[in-house]
Amino acid sequence: KELPADPITENYVRQVENACFSYATPIKTANPQILHVSPEMLEKLGLTESDAKTDEFKNVFTGNEILPDTKPYAMCYGGHQFGNWAGQLGDGRAINLTEIIHNNQRWAIQLKGAGKTSYSRTADGLAVLRSSIREYLCSEAMFHLGVPTTRALSLALSGDEVLRDVLYNGNPAYEKGAIVSRIAPSFLRFGNYQILAVRNDVTTLKTLVDYTIKHFYPELGNPSKETYLEFFRKVAENSLEMVIHWQRVGFVHGVMNTDNMSILGLTIDYGPYGWLEGYDYGWTPNTTDSQHKRYRYGNQPNIVHWNLYQLANALYPLIGETEGLEKVLADFGTAFESKYLNMMRSKIGLFSENENDQKLIQELENNLHLTETDMTIFFRNLSHFQKENPEQGISIIQDAFYNAIETETTEIWNNWFNSYSQRLQLEKESNAERAEKMNAINPKYVLRNYMAQLAIDAADNGDYSLIDELFNLLKNPYSEQEDQEKWFAKRPDWAKNKVGCSM
Ligand code: AMP
Ligand code: MG
Ligand code: MG
Repeated sequence: KELPADPITENYVRQVENACFSYATPIKTANPQILHVSPEMLEKLGLTESDAKTDEFKNVFTGNEILPDTKPYAMCYGGHQFGNWAGQLGDGRAINLTEIIHNNQRWAIQLKGAGKTSYSRTADGLAVLRSSIREYLCSEAMFHLGVPTTRALSLALSGDEVLRDVLYNGNPAYEKGAIVSRIAPSFLRFGNYQILAVRNDVTTLKTLVDYTIKHFYPELGNPSKETYLEFFRKVAENSLEMVIHWQRVGFVHGVMNTDNMSILGLTIDYGPYGWLEGYDYGWTPNTTDSQHKRYRYGNQPNIVHWNLYQLANALYPLIGETEGLEKVLADFGTAFESKYLNMMRSKIGLFSENENDQKLIQELENNLHLTETDMTIFFRNLSHFQKENPEQGISIIQDAFYNAIETETTEIWNNWFNSYSQRLQLEKESNAERAEKMNAINPKYVLRNYMAQLAIDAADNGDYSLIDELFNLLKNPYSEQEDQEKWFAKRPDWAKNKVGCSM
């Protein structure tokens, strides 16, 4: 359907049938103030740093001014939340301002936190500074890490106070309202297709899939059953690519519902995400998922697969048979095994293949679970390993341990370093060459949970300088930054189990 659902009664909360989006008008804010702008993103959009200093920029990217000849809209999607079908969700607090094409690249510009839409259900459509800082910093950091992601252009205060049900001393707490402008070629999610299939609206489903292929997978060609199947294969491949990157850098998404799965394989929705401190398959930043830990680090690839299964169900009406879809899902499993293995190989500096690598890596992962071991510090410091000196291994990585380790643990590690040393003899790189390659794969700086929290605490007190410092630090996550060594450090004690990650 080309037409929106109901242009006249826009923003009226409702079930939106036979349509992919509805018009929405951002609300005016009391006292908008741009806090930070991404120079890289400005450039991508064809804007300059002086553009970003204008009132027009401020007003547009806080929803106070609508660009001429544009009609902002919110998208209709559903989703499986924590494994259960949740019905219509939609952009409850995101409004697409417009789409632009610059340097042959299409960009959708979206405001998060600019007020209610048809999909806001019982919520306010707003965002608070805390979660906005987290999204702004992390999405740009992920880009610089080389992880497929939605981007962010600006972080702004709305000037309004937002009521959140965080209770301090039993009282409702007001927080500073904020708006992030986020950018992606498209914000389409698995849930956009699911909602149409669930409603048996095959006509609109076909329109949306054809649109997606035309603009974002044009190499697939004209619509046909084969094309739809190839489309599914591409989405599966892109999603796999994305989750392998997450595992590589220790990113835990936290809420991998199908409405948070991008059809382009981009990391989307920086809600309760977190970064691994100790390497722990069982860790999740999401406090509402602490019992089942569905979205724990070690389960992320399985969840991508589960989500793809749901997308397959949604595409089924256009394909009419299950065999091809099942094949793609099965291939995902096989591809995962080999891609994951290669990714882990590269993290430990193995750039050729040996049949025992799987075992070596499995043992490494077991060892990393013996005692809380900082993932980032471990892999970064491992690049100092000299293949001739396995007995020095433990001293090279011991900064990564959160606690003193027992003799038994030391022995287990020594054994592993012996095997590792032997394995490295089969590689052609010198120690120095291997270190250089590893350091382009294992980041030195990631947005540790406590770092985001420090930026939030400072911002709450009106000091936004740490946002800028972290933003700049995370532009070069693989480089040594001598004056920034303080951020290459384990989580401080105060932050243990304290840094809550919420929306
Ligand atoms: P999330 O858990 O962030 O993926 O959000 C799930 C759904 O809740 C989506 O439809 C969001 O648009 C909606 N949502 C989350 N927060 C708000 C809010 N403050 N106002 C309106 N809708 C919201
Ligand atoms: Mg979401
Ligand atoms: Mg969210």
